[in-house]
Formats: sequence, C-alpha cells, structure tokens
Amino acid sequence: KKLNSNEPEFIQAATEVLTTLEPVIEANPQYEAAGILERLTEPERQIMFRVPWVDDNGKVHVNRGYRVQFNSAIGPYKGGLRLHPSVNLGIIKFLGFEQILKNSLTGLPIGGGKGGSDFDPKGKSDHEIMVFCQSFMTELYRHIGADTDVPAGDIGVGGREIGYLYGQYKRIRNCYEGVLTGKGLTYGGSLVRTEATGYGLLYFTDAMMKKNGMDIKGKTVVISGAGNVAIYATEKAQQLGAKVVTMSDSTGWIYDAEGIDLAAVKEIKEVKRARLTEYKKYRPNSEYHEGKGVWTVPCDVALPCATQNELNEEDAKTLVKNGVQVVAEGANMPSTIEATNVFQQAGVLFAPGKAANAGGVATSALEMSQNSERLSWSFEEVDAKLKGIMENIFANVDAAAEKYGHPKNYVMGANIAGFVKVADAMLAQGIV
Ligand code: NDP
Repeated sequence: KKLNSNEPEFIQAATEVLTTLEPVIEANPQYEAAGILERLTEPERQIMFRVPWVDDNGKVHVNRGYRVQFNSAIGPYKGGLRLHPSVNLGIIKFLGFEQILKNSLTGLPIGGGKGGSDFDPKGKSDHEIMVFCQSFMTELYRHIGADTDVPAGDIGVGGREIGYLYGQYKRIRNCYEGVLTGKGLTYGGSLVRTEATGYGLLYFTDAMMKKNGMDIKGKTVVISGAGNVAIYATEKAQQLGAKVVTMSDSTGWIYDAEGIDLAAVKEIKEVKRARLTEYKKYRPNSEYHEGKGVWTVPCDVALPCATQNELNEEDAKTLVKNGVQVVAEGANMPSTIEATNVFQQAGVLFAPGKAANAGGVATSALEMSQNSERLSWSFEEVDAKLKGIMENIFANVDAAAEKYGHPKNYVMGANIAGFVKVADAMLAQGIV
C-alpha cells in the first residue's frame, strides 16, 4: 500500500480483490510460497511517454501517454486505451489489474494490460483527433504487436480513434497485423465488437436472473452513461423486453417514462457527437436534469455503464430503498466498495464489472482469432459465441462462490474464478 499511496483507484481495486481471495489462498499454500499475490499486484512493465501534438490553430500541446503491461501469464497483454482528462497512472493500473482477472474469466488466452492518455477528446476537431492518435502511436508502436500486446478502445476511444491508431501503426511498422481490436469492418474488425460489452452485460444479467428465478422481461431498468457500453446495453435490454428509463452523460441525465428512444440517443451521441440536452427535441415528454441523479429513479435493475466510482454508498441505499433487485456493472468499478456492501447486505443480486462487462474483451479476442486465420465470421456466429462465453462466465462465477462457501457472492466468485487460472499459469512458469 505504501508504494502505491498516490494511486487510490488501484488500491481500491486491489483491496477488493485481495480481501475476497483469502479462502483460496488459505486452501492453496503454494500460491503464497511462490509470492503470487505480490507478483500479481506489480505490473510486469509500465510505460509512460510524451505525446506532443499541434492543434488546428498551430498551438503545441503536450499530453502524457501510458501503457501498463500488467500480466502476460496466460496470453499477450490485452486491454483498452482510455482518453480522458482524468487519466493518470493509478487509474490505468486499476484498469489493468482488473483486466487480468476479467480476461482470465473469458476462458480465452489473453493477459492483462491497459493504457491511455490525459488528452481530452471533447470539442476537438476530427483532424486534431487524428494528429493526437498519430503522435500517441508513434511511441506506442514500439511496445505492442499482435503476439505481444493488443490494445482496444475504452472511454474516449471508439472506431474513429482505432482507425487513426491502426493507420499510423501500419505506416511505421509496414506490417498488416491484428495489433488493435475494435477495428472497422473493412480492415479486419469483427462483427458484434461494437455491441459486445453492452450485449454481453445483458446476457450475463439474464443468466444470473434466470438462475435466481427472475426474468428481465417487463422489468424497469436504469442505465447510466450514453457511450458505447450504455447504448448497446440499452439495445439488448429492450430486445429482451425490459423498459430502460434513464441514460446519462457527464453533464446530465434523461428520464423517459415511456422507455428510452434509442434511435434518438444514437443519433445524438454517435452521429452528432452532441450532449443529451438534445434528447428533449426528439421526445418532448421526457425530462432532462443537470448533474448526477439516475440512481434516484425507482427500478428493478440498475446497470452502471459510465465510469469508476459513479455509484456510492448513498446511491446504493437509495436504490435499495426504491426496491432494486439486480445491479450489474457495465463500467469498470462503477460501485464503491461501500456501495457494493450495501447491495450484498440487502440481498440484491450484484454482478461485478470484471465478470459482467467481459463481453467486450472476449469479442476482441475473437477478433484476434479471425485476424490470425484471415477470415471473418458472421454476425450470428460471433453473437452466439459471445452469448455462450457470458453464460459460461456466469456459471463459473456462480460455482466458485458456492465452492468457497459464499453462494451468490458474485464478487468473490469472479475474483476467485479469474485468479486461479492466472495463479496456476504463474506457478508453472516459475519466478518471473
Ligand atoms: P464511452 O466514452 O463510449 O462512454 C462513456 C460514457 O460515460 C459517456 O456517456 C460519458 O459522458 C460518461 N462518462 C465518462 N466519464 C465520466 C465521468 N467522469 N463522469 C460522468 N460521466 C462520465 O466509453 P465506454 O462506453 O466504452 O466505457 C464506459 C465504461 O465501460 C468505462 O468504465 C469502461 O472502462 C467500461 N468498459 C468498456 C468496454 C468497451 O468495450 N468499450 C469494455 C469493458 C468495460 P461524456 O460523453 O459526457 O463524457
């Protein structure tokens, strides 16, 4: 803790994991003898670099770039790139650490990593985004590769940014390989990757609810965020017959009692790249509120899909008071530890992000497979694989929770199920 005292998000993520691993460490003394926990919490490599770029007015800017290559015991480093002004080493480390266990849970051969920059994409022209991405890749290319480290998108990095990053990588390396995922369909991308995290979240939620005798059909769902994860979570929730009544962005939130008009949200967010304030133009009977507030809306199911620590203890108490039965995390670590405790003590079914949002990275791994064999699979094929993977993750998480004496504690189940495979691979590979 002392070493990382200026990295509160990393300490939060590591504390949550380490406390839930106690039963598995007690039952397996070989892990302690091999220093598995000490090694697991120290990244294999952390890269920080200068990203200079020139804006449309000729002004020079300097941002800081990061890539944390956390753990490669079970496969090449894999994890997204985040572009947001809040990005710092502690945030990238928390995300990279979570990614190790998440990637293990998918059952696919991918290690954990994460990267990004404190660059703020808001209000930047297309040209400025391109220039930034090119400068970022001009350093990053040295550290990545299809068999070494395969970055993807995250907050602020979608199809457009991946395209610019890929173009620059290919130009510098003179090599056409699957070094990034989330690519466009004309140059090696996979069908369903755009939808994968949101769809996967709902496949997981559906499986968890069914196992507990519930059905998402007809349920009222509250969602935060209005980005990639939130949009496709809303789409799949609606397809499964639920009613989604809220979405949010960093300035405010919308409430639509009749159910969110997703075509309107997609146009505002994906086409115009505008704010949710515009939603009222499409749906005059809806409400727009400034600031934070989706968790005050009564619901059966809550799906936080924006960012870390967006749901605190007070929010959790309000949700419980209003009758929430299920909380599943689309974002990474959106609930504080205190909020998670409130849900678990109230008997709410709680699915942690590292299990519930693993569909994005799982589909990225499927994109890597398609790139390696130079083939593309159909939408139905990838979607069916994604659904199978999410159902399998739920089954493994559920079984691990049960096996270690805490049935329905899916936080513990996810951490243990993800950890064991990585720990065994590390044991087999010696002290490295
Ligand atoms: P996007 O950039 O597409 O969307 C993020 C959304 O969250 C936007 O609506 C954004 O609002 C809002 N948001 C971001 N930061 C804040 C903040 N500090 N306060 C309030 N609102 C905020 O990102 P994604 O949808 O890709 O990612 C959302 C979450 O899901 C993240 O935690 C990410 O790590 C996680 N995730 C993403 C995966 C993926 O495949 N994309 C995979 C697994 C997890 P605004 O537009 O106003 O900034």
